[in-house]
Amino acid sequence: METRTTALGKTKRIALVAHDNMKPQLLKWAQANRDVLTQHKLCGTGTTGYQIETALSLEVEEFMSGPLGGDQQLGAKISEGYIDFLIFFWDPLQQLPHDPDVKALLRLAALWNIPVACNSATADYLITSPLVDVAYERETPDYKAYIENRTRGMHK
Ligand code: PGA
Repeated sequence: METRTTALGKTKRIALVAHDNMKPQLLKWAQANRDVLTQHKLCGTGTTGYQIETALSLEVEEFMSGPLGGDQQLGAKISEGYIDFLIFFWDPLQQLPHDPDVKALLRLAALWNIPVACNSATADYLITSPLVDVAYERETPDYKAYIENRTRGMHK
């Protein structure tokens, strides 16, 4: 796959998601890192986003609740280049009806080279990285080249 670079500004767009059993951990983490989070644009799945917004008085763009399509919305936003970081505390001890959506979200995050934290220790390392507050060139799939390769020789 050919790649290109996507320029990220100093302000990052951070998506926050936690499964129900993991929500207390994410809330605790977000509280501890509130000062940093205020410097970035936040979004999340419906329930997680609402909880963080109300508990921390932070503005969070809320998508649908995860089981109702929110994970897929976040995946689509990653493909569109709208999300720079994914903090996703998924539950390693429980199967969920939307497990396929969870897998799809993690796949798209890997494909589009999005930093992902699935637990608080990783999230701590990620949010304290010196790269968080500076402009950054992220390598991403080159969609235009991808389509050109796939349609070479075809007639319109
Ligand atoms: P929720 O969705 O924030 O609406 O609970 C999270 C999820 O289950 O993926």
